[in-house]
Parts: sequence; structure tokens; C-alpha cells
Amino acid sequence: MSASPASIAPAAEAGETAGEFVISAPPAPSLPVAGTARRFPVRRVYCVGRNYAAHTIEMGHDPDREGPFFFQKNPDGLVPGGGKFPYPAATSDVHHEIELVVALARGGADIAVEEALSHVYGYAVGIDMTRRDLQAVAKKAGRPWEVAKAFEHAAPCSAVAPAAAIGHPDRGVITLDVNGEERQRGDLAQLIWKVPEIVSCLSGLFTLAAGDIVFTGTPAGVGPVVRGDRLRGQVEGVGAIEVEVV
Ligand code: MN
Repeated sequence: MSASPASIAPAAEAGETAGEFVISAPPAPSLPVAGTARRFPVRRVYCVGRNYAAHTIEMGHDPDREGPFFFQKNPDGLVPGGGKFPYPAATSDVHHEIELVVALARGGADIAVEEALSHVYGYAVGIDMTRRDLQAVAKKAGRPWEVAKAFEHAAPCSAVAPAAAIGHPDRGVITLDVNGEERQRGDLAQLIWKVPEIVSCLSGLFTLAAGDIVFTGTPAGVGPVVRGDRLRGQVEGVGAIEVEVV
């Protein structure tokens, strides 16, 4: 017997769903905002690849300034404010990548470099968790990176610090400790592509909107995590994030 519209209708009549949507609407992802109980709603999560020369070299690439490249994570992969990071499936080599995150208050297309900072709401500290083994396979086969970058809980991110409170940091130490031992260290001044250039370039590829956030790339020192590890990331003048691998 094949399903017909008539055989589907009774479920709705029985009140199994309510309101506008035929199934429960997924929760809207958001981040805490430093200094307030209000939250920053997240629309999209963009990421910049290879944006510090020392990290580019450690990954086996030439750090010439060819132009930024981008990938995305899923907004529902955020771990808002940090906390527990469940070790993901299908990997035995999950790496930490500490990054400055930019949160947009306004969007647009073809945003000029000189205008870009006026679109920024604030900044946060994120960890671009990466299934490095799956990324290596994808790179070798010329396949997309989603399996390496867009899995569940792949984007721990601190509270957003409003630019109105902290300004627009273009220098400042960025570090990540694992179990109290420093693993990553860099300075925002070492970003190959600066925040205004990132926002401008990205807006030429995608129409940006309020609620978009951008992970801006990681300094050198990326490495694996194991269950039980405690990660603490910090960006001078922006904030900090703590994550426990469970
Ligand atoms: Mn990254």
C-alpha cells in the first residue's frame, strides 16, 4: 500500500505538530555577548585558511600572499562560550586551531576595505576544531573540507566583545594552552589578511549579513587533542575560551 496525502493528514490533525512548521523548528544558534545577558544571533560561520605564515609553513604550504581562501562551518556546530567538546566520530586526529573571530552587525556585498570595520559588531575567541586525518584525505583527493571542518561541536567560540567596548584590535597576543602548557602563540599583527581585507574579500564572494561570523585563521602550533584535555585560548584585548575534551 503506497502512502497518499490522505494517509499523512491525520498526524497533523492529531496535533503532533503545532504552529507554522511541520516539524519542530531547530534552535537559532547564538553567542553570549560580554557584559550583558543579551546574545549575538549567528547566521553563517565563515573561516579563513592559512592566514599566518608560520602556520602555512607548518602545514607544508608556501606563505605567499596569493589571496585569502574561505570555507564554512555550520552555525549549529558552535559551542557557545566554550565548555565541553565531545570527541567526534570517524577520526583519530582532531586538532585545535585558536583564532580571532569577527562578528558582523551589518552585511552587504562588495564592501570596500575602508568601510569594512563599520560592519563589525565585535570580536571573539574561537577554536576551529579540525579532523586533520579526514582533511588530509580530502586535500589529497581534491575533495571538499566539510568532513574535516563542519562536524558537530566543531566551533567552540567565546562571548563576543563589542567593538564599542574594545575597539578593533589589529595587534595582540593570541595563544592556546593545553593542560596548562602553551601550544600555540602568535600575534594579530601577523595576520596575512587583515580583518578589513577579509570582510571586503568575503563580501565579493557572498552577500554578507548581520549575524555572520568569521574565524580569521590560526597561528602556528596546531596539534592533536585527546579526551580529558583542557584547552584555554586567549586573545589579548578580546577575551578567552576554555574547552574540555570529553
Ligand atoms: Mn582554521
